[in-house]
Amino acid sequence: MAFADELYKAAAPIDRRSSRASCVCAALLAGASVAGAAELQGAALRDAVRGWRAQHEVVLLREFAELLAIPNVASDAPNIGRNAEHILRMFERRGAKGRLLDGEGGPPVVFAELPAPGARRTLMVYAHYDGQPVDPARWSSPPWTPVLRTAPPDQGGRAMALDALRPGQIDPEWRLYARSSSDDKAPVVAVLAALDALQAAGVTRSVNLKFFLEGEEEAGSPHLDKVLAKSAALLQADGWLLCDGPVHQTRRMQVYYGARGVTGLEITTYGPLRPLHSGHYGNWAPNPAVQLAHVVAGLRDVEGRITVAGFYDDVRPLSEAERAALAAVPPVDEALRESFALHQTEAAGAPLVERIMLPALNVRGLESGAVGERASNAIPSEASVSIDFRLVPDQTPAKVRARVEAHLRGQGFTLVDHAPTARERRDTPRLLRLHWEPGYPPARTALDLPFSRAVAAAVEEGQGAPIVRMPSLGGSIPMYLFAQATGRPIVGLPIANHDNNQHAADENLRLQNLWDGIESFAALIARLGPLLDGGAGAQPRGAEAERFASRERAIDSRASDSTDEGRAAGAPGRSSVSPRGPSAGIHFRREPAESLEAAR
Ligand SMILES: [Zn+2]
Repeated sequence: MAFADELYKAAAPIDRRSSRASCVCAALLAGASVAGAAELQGAALRDAVRGWRAQHEVVLLREFAELLAIPNVASDAPNIGRNAEHILRMFERRGAKGRLLDGEGGPPVVFAELPAPGARRTLMVYAHYDGQPVDPARWSSPPWTPVLRTAPPDQGGRAMALDALRPGQIDPEWRLYARSSSDDKAPVVAVLAALDALQAAGVTRSVNLKFFLEGEEEAGSPHLDKVLAKSAALLQADGWLLCDGPVHQTRRMQVYYGARGVTGLEITTYGPLRPLHSGHYGNWAPNPAVQLAHVVAGLRDVEGRITVAGFYDDVRPLSEAERAALAAVPPVDEALRESFALHQTEAAGAPLVERIMLPALNVRGLESGAVGERASNAIPSEASVSIDFRLVPDQTPAKVRARVEAHLRGQGFTLVDHAPTARERRDTPRLLRLHWEPGYPPARTALDLPFSRAVAAAVEEGQGAPIVRMPSLGGSIPMYLFAQATGRPIVGLPIANHDNNQHAADENLRLQNLWDGIESFAALIARLGPLLDGGAGAQPRGAEAERFASRERAIDSRASDSTDEGRAAGAPGRSSVSPRGPSAGIHFRREPAESLEAAR
């Protein structure tokens, strides 16, 4: 607390080199508007924010450390509540009006609003303040005792006392170690620092800001849909920024526009009721492990292609904009192959970014009998495989389930959803037990919507360098919940380093990532309004403008299925990426109630 107050007492004399700077600041603090500063953009804006940050690094890290010192596992109700209160106060100190929204059975959501006088647009910023559970024995220092280190502990990093540091002494390659230093308290601190830097520089906010900070993301967001539904009126915004996840492996900032969906399946095959001597009964009693191997081989080939009939029918082809964005992603495949010791990759070496735009069937594990020391000459009684499917628009868990089950029945299998009795095993031909995890659908926002383009343009302006536009994360986050609840474009803006030990011991944030995050948020807050209203080439013209307008109308209507025209007719592969026009809109179509229910 003391550190944070210090931040405000300092009244932040900014370090822009002009003598006007301190006058601007003083005038702004007195409530006057300053035209010159209000129009700062590009390099001048970046310099102002960077200069402020350089002067305030120490106080900023201390405020961050105070927040990180509060344990934040979602199930730890007293401490998660302390986090929420603490964050609320951080926002209120910046003049935001905030409150805690009822978590509908989960931790409260911190909601805050910071209107910008005269602004027509509203940006919603999402992050989560809870973190993964910890195993302190595996940490180099206690997880909720933040430690600033000069390098990772296993590379000889030294701990630097925050109290003893002065501005100008901090190396941007140093890292702050604590649970949630990156995932996901970093964006909270970065956006607040951006507000401070803009205020100090006398820069007007160009958009109204709203903040929605969740407290149980790492617990699977079981109450998020209820909170979103209940607070719909409060949560109106032109678009949402999901501030979670890592930047690109090249350390470039990236924005992402989608996430794959996910569902899980366990299949069990059955042999004799108990293991049998393989000499006496081999060639006679069916072997469930061999049956299972054939089942798996019938679902996907060694190149990753899923061989379930019709599986790719629901895959929406990539739009022009998505294909252009993928082509511009800096290549990382060679470096990754080196670090993972992979001689070859699937699909004849197709690039990773292309592969994560497609559905995937992954074998998580296989189990039957035993190997090594424990192996015995026996025919096992059962064999199981655990599978995860990654889904892309317009697949859903329900459709995947229907296709996989139809495929297996077509091969003559009888499917049950429970552990079969001895009688069922005796009487049923080609028996398979299927156990499905509910999972949830994918989501994707079109890259060429005005909001999508303006966010990327603002972040790029903030960085003064190209950023990565990623049409979809390979991983799964329940982005669809936001898309379905709000009908607005959802864009991801992560700031954490990719090598942050996310969810593991020694989670850390590389300081340069925090600095980059501050500059990105500052540019967004200062520039998103004009960029949305047609500045910096974000506004399309002529026929293109009409297309964008009709797409925005489609989103506003929240009712149409705008994806049919872009639906893939055949299976996608490298050669089947459709040259047809951009698929329209974000994936906001409402799923039937039962599949939504299943997706929780
Ligand atoms: Zn996260």
